[in-house]
Amino acid sequence: MVEMFDGKFLIDGEWSKSDSGSTIRVLNPATGQTIGEVPNGSVEDTKRAIDAASQALSKWREFTPHERARILFEGARLIKNRSNELGRLLTMEQGKPLSEATGEVIEAADGIEFYAEAATKMHGSVISSEIEHRNLWVQKEPMGIVGIIIPWNYPAAMFSGKAGPALATGNTVVLKPASNTPLTNLEMARAMVEAGIPKGVLNVVTGPGPVVGNEIAKNSKISKVTFTGETETGKQVMRLASDTLKRISLELGGNDPMIVCEDADLELAATGAANGRYGNCGQDCVAPKRLYVHKSVAEKFIKLFLDRVNLIRVGNGLDPETTMGPLNNSAQRADVERLVRDAKDRGAEVLSGGKRPEGESYANGFFYEPTVLVSVPDGSLILREECFGPALPIVQISDMQEGIEKANDSIYGLGASIWTKDVTKAMDAIGQLQAGTVWVNACSDTPINVPFGGIKQSGFGRDHGTEALEAYCEMKSVTINSKRSGQ
Ligand code: NDP
Repeated sequence: MVEMFDGKFLIDGEWSKSDSGSTIRVLNPATGQTIGEVPNGSVEDTKRAIDAASQALSKWREFTPHERARILFEGARLIKNRSNELGRLLTMEQGKPLSEATGEVIEAADGIEFYAEAATKMHGSVISSEIEHRNLWVQKEPMGIVGIIIPWNYPAAMFSGKAGPALATGNTVVLKPASNTPLTNLEMARAMVEAGIPKGVLNVVTGPGPVVGNEIAKNSKISKVTFTGETETGKQVMRLASDTLKRISLELGGNDPMIVCEDADLELAATGAANGRYGNCGQDCVAPKRLYVHKSVAEKFIKLFLDRVNLIRVGNGLDPETTMGPLNNSAQRADVERLVRDAKDRGAEVLSGGKRPEGESYANGFFYEPTVLVSVPDGSLILREECFGPALPIVQISDMQEGIEKANDSIYGLGASIWTKDVTKAMDAIGQLQAGTVWVNACSDTPINVPFGGIKQSGFGRDHGTEALEAYCEMKSVTINSKRSGQ
C-alpha cells in the first residue's frame, strides 16, 4: 500500500486547507504514484498568509536576536531529530537517494543554527561627525515581510538558506514550496511551530507558481522576495516585484564550466566531475555542466571518468544500493532528452547512457541513464542552455585560455572550476572566469558560511554567509543633535 501524506497550509499558526477545497497531487518520481496531496492555494489564501505575516511583524521585531535564536535552535534540533523521517519524505517526493536526502536535511538544520547564532553577532556602526554635537550611527533593521519561492531540487536546503536568515533578523515570512516537493517544507515548518515560533511569523502556502508565487511577487505588503528557479521565471518575478520596488534576490541556475588542464590531477578531476554532475541526478544549479579538457590528457581523463560513471547505480532512492535516483518530473526528463538528441543530431558521440534505463523497476519513474557525450560541436544546445539532468558534454581544448574563452561564452555566471596543479595558472583563471563562485581542484560545494550566488543571467544577491543576513536587513542612518540652546 502506498503511504499517503495529507498536507495542509500553515497560515497564522493554524494548519488549514485552501478556501476552494481543491488540492495538488504530489508524485513519487521513482514510481509515478501519488504519495500525497496539498492545498491548491489561491490568491485569497496567499493574501490571508500575507495578512498574518503583517500582523505578526511588530511583535517578532521586538524579540531580541537571542530570543529568536533560541526558537530557531530548537526548530533545528527537532529537524535533526527527525532527519531519518524527513529524509525519507524528501526522497519520496524529490527522488534523490536516501543518503543524499538525509544529508540535505541535516545540513539544512545546521544552516538554521548558523543563522540563529550569526544574527546574535550582528552590529551596526558609529560614524564620526564633521558637524559639532552630531551623533551618527547606522543600525540594521528587519525589512518586513519576506516572500520566499522555493524550487524542487533542494527544498530542505533552500528553506534553511532563505527562511533561516530572514527569520533570524526579525522578518516574518510567507514561503511557497515548489508544487512537486511541498511535503518536506511543510514538515520543516511543523518543527518550527513546535519549537515555539509565534503564530503568523512563518506561513507556508502551497499552490501553483503563477497564482501563489505571482501574488507573493506583486503584493504591496511584501518588502522582499527571494527566489530560486528558472531564469525566465526569475525575470517574471522581477517584473512583478518592480511595481512596488521590492528588494529581490534571484538565484537562477547556471551552465557551470569545468576546465581540466594538462597538469591536473586527473583522478581527482574525474571523481569531482562524476560526483558533481550526477549527484542529485544532475539537478543542481552548480553541477559542472560543460567539461573542457586539454587534448593531451583527454583520452586518459575520459577513461577515468567513465570508470566512475559505470559505478553509478540508478534506482529508487529508497533502495540503499541506489546512488542516482530519477529526475524529479517528466518535463525535466524530456528536457534532458531534447538536449542530448540535439547534440547527437549535430554529430556528438554518446560514450555512456543517452537513454532511459530498461526494466520493470524503471517503467513508471522518470529515470535517465548517466550520460557522457564527446565530440560535441560548438553551437550544440547542451553547451548553451542549462542541462538540469545527468548528461555531461566533454569538449577538447588546446590550452587553458581557449577553455576560459569557451567557459565565459555563456549568458550564465553561477560557478566555474579550474583543475590544475599550477598555482599561477589557477590565479590567472580565478581572475578571468566570469562566475559568482570559482573552485580550484573542486566543484559544486556551497558551504553555508560562504556567500553564494551568480552574476550575468544567473541572477543577483547572495544566499549563504553572513552576507545573506545583511540582505534581509535595511540600514537606518540615525542622527542625534546633542547641542543645548546657548551652547
Ligand atoms: P520554476 O522557475 O518554474 O520554479 C521554481 C519556483 O518558482 C517554484 O516554486 C514554482 O512554483 C515557482 N513559480 C513558477 N512560476 C512562477 C511565477 N510565474 N511566479 C512566481 N513563482 C513561480 O522552475 P521549474 O520547476 O519549472 O524548473 C524548470 C527549470 O528551472 C529547470 O530545468 C532548471 O533549469 C531551472 N531550475 C533551477 C533551479 C536552481 O537551483 N537554480 C532549481 C529548479 C529549477 P511551482 O512549483 O508551483 O511551479
